[in-house]
Amino acid sequence: MRFSTFSTVALVFARHVCTLPTEKDKVSGLDVALSQANNTRMKAVVKNIGQEDVTFVHLNFFGDKAPVKKVSVYQNNTELAFSGINRHFRLQGITPDSFTTLKTGEAIEDEFDIATTTELSSGGSVLLKSSGLVPLVSNGAVSGYLPYHSNDLNIKIDGLKASQVAKAIKPLQRRTKVTCDNQRMKNELTDALRKTSSLASVAANAARYGSADKFREYFKTTDGSVRQTVAARLDAVAREAGSSTSGATTYYCTDAYGYCESSVLAYTIPIRDVIVNCELYYSYLPELTSNCHEQDRATTSLHEFTHAPGVYSPGTQDLGYGYEAATALSSQEAVMNADTYALYANGEFQRQTSMPS
Ligand SMILES: [Zn+2]
Repeated sequence: MRFSTFSTVALVFARHVCTLPTEKDKVSGLDVALSQANNTRMKAVVKNIGQEDVTFVHLNFFGDKAPVKKVSVYQNNTELAFSGINRHFRLQGITPDSFTTLKTGEAIEDEFDIATTTELSSGGSVLLKSSGLVPLVSNGAVSGYLPYHSNDLNIKIDGLKASQVAKAIKPLQRRTKVTCDNQRMKNELTDALRKTSSLASVAANAARYGSADKFREYFKTTDGSVRQTVAARLDAVAREAGSSTSGATTYYCTDAYGYCESSVLAYTIPIRDVIVNCELYYSYLPELTSNCHEQDRATTSLHEFTHAPGVYSPGTQDLGYGYEAATALSSQEAVMNADTYALYANGEFQRQTSMPS
């Protein structure tokens, strides 16, 4: 009897805890003006066109010094492969070196070379554009999101000059499934990946057979084929995380490529099917959170696995970070957004572990 009473209370709580109200933006966003500085070198002027001063995380965005995706590059209506990194950062306790403040009407400039992360040696005409949702920060925590849009920039590329630009990511020699010299981290990662695998299985089953309302909350549709696609990607993640000796990805337990910094938990190099953990993964994240939509090791790794095309193709992108931004995406975007999978898996896990058995 005691158990039954407790479960009922937990279930009622769980119903509320995983459906946070979404506050709408008060500001209208950022304008990104793209121009060609010199062949493959681009300039972006990012201006606050809203009515309020804003502070946003610039990781994975303009102002990030790492080879992150700042623009999409198209040739003959097809997007060219991006060979840089996706950084995954903490949603709370973000340090000031990871965010930028723009007063209303104020702008920042960023210059970057698209040839460092895109194969452009054949040259010719390309189209560049950029849009999405950038996370807003308040008191060091992600508090919402801000939409940004760029102009469509049509340019001509000198292929020979482009071929002389060094690629940002150099291949490493070591190739095994989990690559780790530190035994403690290796053990902790192995434990976390076991949780990732079972979490992904729970979420795959929920996507296939579970609540249509919950699926709609995250993926904005109840269409059967979308549910199958989501389930198939989550099944693939469960298989990948469940095998420490084979699989498509290489998982480094420490910063093998040198792109960790103060607020970064992990990053993925999708074109190489490489995932890398930063020190914060171990020191900041619990293995598995019991709180709704909070970060932990299991869902962070799940998020990273969905980026890797070797796990399930095409790999996801970072279109909306955190619950509020992720649930503001369209259905088509949500299916391609890494954090939507992590949030859905967390939400389903919280719900199912709160249910009476
Ligand atoms: Zn990501």
